[in-house]
Amino acid sequence: MNDPEIFLNPCALCKRRKGERLCDYIVDYTSVIFYRSSNDFLGQERHTTCDLPMCTDCATKYNGHDFCPHHKKIHEQVRKQPTEQLERARQQEQIRQLNEYKKLEQNK
Ligand SMILES: [Zn+2]
Ligand SMILES: [Zn+2]
Repeated sequence: MNDPEIFLNPCALCKRRKGERLCDYIVDYTSVIFYRSSNDFLGQERHTTCDLPMCTDCATKYNGHDFCPHHKKIHEQVRKQPTEQLERARQQEQIRQLNEYKKLEQNK
């Protein structure tokens, strides 16, 4: 219980355990920044994540990502379009993309 490492990197939520997980929720999208080498350029991340330090108990797992409670709630809202009409349009677009992909696979 008196692990000094906990105080170096505590969970931001319970403050009792180590903050070994970071919230992966994307909070911002960045534009391309130019680097000296092409490897740096290709390796750059195009988005900024929340990065709240959390312990494994406080983090919520979602498809291999960790979310803080605040962003978990937001994510549940974000996944749905605000109206049924828009939600249908989004689903139709996904089906269209899937069919296009299938066509490409068949032509190989
Ligand atoms: Zn915690
Ligand atoms: Zn978060």
